[in-house]
Amino acid sequence: MRPFVFLATVMLSLPAPLAAQSQTFTRADTLRGSNTPERAWWDVTFYDLHVRVRPADSSIAGWNGITYRVLDPRQDMQIDLQPPLEVDSVVQAGRRLTFRRDGNVVLVRLADRPRVGDSRTVTVHYHGRPRVARRAPWDGGFVWATDSLGRGWIATANEGLGASVWWPNKDYLADEPDSQRIAITVPDPLVNVSNGRLRSTTRHDDGTTTYEWFVTAPINNYNVTVNAGPYAHFSDTLDGEAGKLTLNYWPLDYHLDAAQRQFEQVVPTLQCFEHWFGPYPWYADGYQLIETPHLGMEHQSAVAYGNHFLNGYRGRDLSGTGLGLQWDFIIVHETAHEWWGNNITMQDHADMWIHESFANYAEGIYTECRLGKAAGAAYMIGVRIGIRNDRPIIPAYGVNAGGSGDMYPKGGTMLHMIRQIVDDDAKWRDILRGLNTTFRRQTVTGQQVQDYMSREAGVDLSRVFAQYLTTTLIPELQYRLEGTSLSYRWANVVPGFDMQVSVMVPELGTRILHPTEAWQAMAVPSPRAAELKVDENYYVTARNVGGQGGR
Ligand SMILES: [Zn+2]
Repeated sequence: MRPFVFLATVMLSLPAPLAAQSQTFTRADTLRGSNTPERAWWDVTFYDLHVRVRPADSSIAGWNGITYRVLDPRQDMQIDLQPPLEVDSVVQAGRRLTFRRDGNVVLVRLADRPRVGDSRTVTVHYHGRPRVARRAPWDGGFVWATDSLGRGWIATANEGLGASVWWPNKDYLADEPDSQRIAITVPDPLVNVSNGRLRSTTRHDDGTTTYEWFVTAPINNYNVTVNAGPYAHFSDTLDGEAGKLTLNYWPLDYHLDAAQRQFEQVVPTLQCFEHWFGPYPWYADGYQLIETPHLGMEHQSAVAYGNHFLNGYRGRDLSGTGLGLQWDFIIVHETAHEWWGNNITMQDHADMWIHESFANYAEGIYTECRLGKAAGAAYMIGVRIGIRNDRPIIPAYGVNAGGSGDMYPKGGTMLHMIRQIVDDDAKWRDILRGLNTTFRRQTVTGQQVQDYMSREAGVDLSRVFAQYLTTTLIPELQYRLEGTSLSYRWANVVPGFDMQVSVMVPELGTRILHPTEAWQAMAVPSPRAAELKVDENYYVTARNVGGQGGR
């Protein structure tokens, strides 16, 4: 897919709390997280990845053929590959090219200047012992594990860290290939499962087998995965919105029975998400769920599963309501990413809320599908126990920075609130489905998502997004009763904050207020009006400021 030139202007408009929290970023962060001149001139169309995996010494070796279209003729090309992996050679049209390493970057000098529109391929040969994951999937890399019988069990997980931790590519989120081959060679009898569909299996004389997988759709780099182990296999079919979807399941062989029970949750999960978000995005590539030695990851069409066949999040309920124990967190959350993260992908890591806020919200939606709308709302109110308000959800752009973990529960909370503002479930569903058709298989900025939602909701939500994504402030509804006049306003908010809020006023009933930072007043019939209650679907606080507040 076409890379986008991203203008890092957002920092300028951020309110003080984030601006004050300045961080230091290095040149390496900029090379990793921005569309450098050595990246912007070429558009990846195909990755042809071939990797031999050797668990005996935790090493890998292989090559990636990078096919690209020339957007702007230049001769210097940035390819990313993280040490300690070494580049053996870079080859184009049979000629070895010169290159130099600069930290995680391989700067290649092409033999000639291409023409606009040309399609070229450059092949990078490499080898080494890739970074071992310290705590996958969060602190990732290669996972060299063994199962309970001591057999090899290998996986990759590298969100944030980047795919260049194990294979050479343009490690920039805004440029995805249109399709990709992933040919992984592993020692027998391990079975390797990667993304998309298995095209061929080739046994070699040296006791290894190559599993050639192919993804026919754009895929973000961090989703490309190796999963090799003593897998059993079973399959199912979903009669879905866009036809028949093949479901392939790969548990460890001795977990076949457990998987056959637990993975029955996949079909209702997909049905629920198709209803709310639109057709599963990858019918041609199918859906797979693969048991992994780490907890899980949204690897496109090859979801990693390590939740031990338990409901909840490792058997716990992140909402504190008990509702999260009604379903398997990893199946639901990671599958939601097929829409939120894989179909619609952030261009910059700073906008990871697009992935996680919607995936968190999808947990509430699944609860609603299974147990009703009130249960879904209770789940979304419950997940607020995980909100820390430690720092903003959106960090600096252009440096591959990660924001607060609040992107999960607080981001989901924000979306649940926006649904209250929309106050029309059919329209809300149209917005969620519309995002998935409008930005189908694209990389986007958070701003595009925000603008779309405001436009379709018919409400300017910009300050709602600014409040909850770029500050740690919780809006406070201040109010005071003077005779029969109830005054109210917002405090602790970004300039211009104007979110509506629903309140229950004794003897008056439910009212939608449209507070701003300025006091407004309404006539109320009761001296008990000061006992008003804010609808708990809104993540705000309320305070009776009596006679002294607000001057
Ligand atoms: Zn997630």
